[in-house]
Amino acid sequence: MVWLFDYDLTLYGEEERHVLVSLDRRISAYVQKTIGGTFEHASEIRTEYLHRYGTTLAGLMALHGTDPDDFFDFIHDAQYLVYPVPAPAKRDLLLSLKGPRGVFTNGRHDWSEAGMRSMGILDCMDFVFDLKALGWVGKPHDIAYEKMENFLKGRLGADFNASGIVLLEDSLRNLEPAHARGWITILVNPVENAPDWVDFHIPHLLDLDKIVNKLPC
Ligand SMILES: [Mg+2]
Repeated sequence: MVWLFDYDLTLYGEEERHVLVSLDRRISAYVQKTIGGTFEHASEIRTEYLHRYGTTLAGLMALHGTDPDDFFDFIHDAQYLVYPVPAPAKRDLLLSLKGPRGVFTNGRHDWSEAGMRSMGILDCMDFVFDLKALGWVGKPHDIAYEKMENFLKGRLGADFNASGIVLLEDSLRNLEPAHARGWITILVNPVENAPDWVDFHIPHLLDLDKIVNKLPC
């Protein structure tokens, strides 16, 4: 089994949404810097690009020729950001999982690494496969999942098996291509209902221990 974790709202949950809000504020500031106008308008454009292109960055790149590293250097300025609190229970849970563990994120690696350092779980991960490694084309584009598989094939060799990949994600949209590839999908989200095709649904990462025995190992 290979364990892949989305970072935002998956490794830290809905109860720490202010972490993501602090980053979104920085993204809106970058949009404002790029297109001008008010912060409020920039915030609306941020959301519009997110829905139309999958990420705000993808919209900025397509429409404004944004350099992705310039974007991330700006939005990851630590003085404006909030990080998740120390999470010893998550650490124990992650260390109990057998098989490689990694992060599969639409952010640049330094954001999730700083957050995991804050939570005390950075050393629980064997790798961070980030948007830069994905050539700046992230989930839910199918090419992102293909690149993730190729990376795992390189690490695991003959042991690679798509049906042995578990993806934990708060976003259904990002789980769908994983399901299509035969990965095991776990929706980590406090919403009440999940579609039938989702293999497992837990409200919070710490609930993983309740279903881990049901996974085919
Ligand atoms: Mg997420």
